Amino acid sequence: MSTATPRILVIEDSLMLIRPLCRMVNKNGFEAVPATSMAEVRQALLDDPRFMAAVADYCLPDAPAGEVLPLLLENRIPTVVLTAHNDMQTRERVLGMPVVDYIPKESPSAFEYVMKMLRRIRVNPGIKVLVVDDSQAVRQFLRMQLERHLYQVLEAADAEQALDILRHEIGIQLILTDHDMPGMDGVRMTSTIRRFMDHTRLAIIGISGSQDPTMTARFIKAGADDYLQKPFNYEEFFCRVTRNVEFVENLQALKESANKDPLSGLSNRRHFFELVAGLRCNYSVAVLDIDLFKRINDGYGHDVGDRVICQTARMLESFFPDDIVARFGGEEFVILVQPLDAPDMLRQLDKLRRALANLVVTTLRGDLRFTVSIGMAAAEEADVSTLLKQADNYLYQAKHNGRNQVCGGMVETGHTVNSEPSAAGA
Ligand code: GH3
Ligand code: MG
Ligand code: MG
Repeated sequence: MSTATPRILVIEDSLMLIRPLCRMVNKNGFEAVPATSMAEVRQALLDDPRFMAAVADYCLPDAPAGEVLPLLLENRIPTVVLTAHNDMQTRERVLGMPVVDYIPKESPSAFEYVMKMLRRIRVNPGIKVLVVDDSQAVRQFLRMQLERHLYQVLEAADAEQALDILRHEIGIQLILTDHDMPGMDGVRMTSTIRRFMDHTRLAIIGISGSQDPTMTARFIKAGADDYLQKPFNYEEFFCRVTRNVEFVENLQALKESANKDPLSGLSNRRHFFELVAGLRCNYSVAVLDIDLFKRINDGYGHDVGDRVICQTARMLESFFPDDIVARFGGEEFVILVQPLDAPDMLRQLDKLRRALANLVVTTLRGDLRFTVSIGMAAAEEADVSTLLKQADNYLYQAKHNGRNQVCGGMVETGHTVNSEPSAAGA
């Protein structure tokens, strides 16, 4: 899919409805393309058939019995159907076609639900769902259902295969599992998975036709998030699937916001210590502090200070893309690099220092340049706190020696290497 705003074909003959619907679609970050008849739909498809999805009224003046749906599906456009007919017959007919979903118009929350479906159609292609069932027919059925909502579907015929896929495949966010399977059963598989993947990474829904009244509780106690009793209907299935995928997404968003510094987008101090917990070998740690930053704030304003922090963060990431980079607070950053090579690291840090000194920040009060001081400590074996303290001492030395320089060395030997201070001032 392109990076352009996704286009949504909004098909509705009532002007009372199409206007607010298009407004809402646009407000949600899409581009609404309105059509009030089947003829207009044909024209829109001729003009440019690349739609992320369609929201289609079932009954149009020139297509009174859902004739627009096959046309959209032929063009491979994921379609959410809005309908005034809430009878069983229409429902069966619509859901008999591979549309995404079916929403009765009269429901006051219909539009909200449409928006939710559009958001899902946008992100679902990036979400992997693993279906575990020994019956190929059941796997095939579940795959077809999930693909309506554009999920990426993987299949396993037993628990062993499922565990193997989980070890090799990243990004699986939901598992649908049967209970009775040859080898390990679904409940045991669930508790095995929970030993290495918690609820923030993966939701598990147990599915079984078993009449055993304790089955729901057994699945949930083993670590499943939900349970579906067979037979289930399409809508119930999708309500559960969507709810569980959203649950994982919400937990991940919470985790992300707890780990990230909101200004720079780098890991925060707490997350840094979480990432390095237990680390005790071959690495170097650098502490970087912007020189005379207070003057930047005082002279150019706090917002320019913020921009300097962000630009420094981007530069750090570009110099150390595979390493741990964190903002510790204020204008202080930490970089942890493995494996250890102190002279190489010092050279890299000095390059970074020069790149930052050469950066020109344009502001309303004229161009601004700034410098940084860096302290680095490397060790073959030391804990991170000890090394950070040493790096801080070197930073103090760099500041004391006149700023805009890198000081550092191996911790055991105490060997110190100073880079040449450059002429660029703050
Ligand atoms: P030195 O070269 O010795 O490090 O001097 P300095 O002025 O950089 O150091 P000092 O610690 O005196 O000042 C740091 C300033 O950073 C003070 C604080 O107001 C400012 N600051 C802290 N966090 C932020 C932030 O998120 N945004 C902005 N714009 N300023 C911040
Ligand atoms: Mg400073
Ligand atoms: Mg400081």
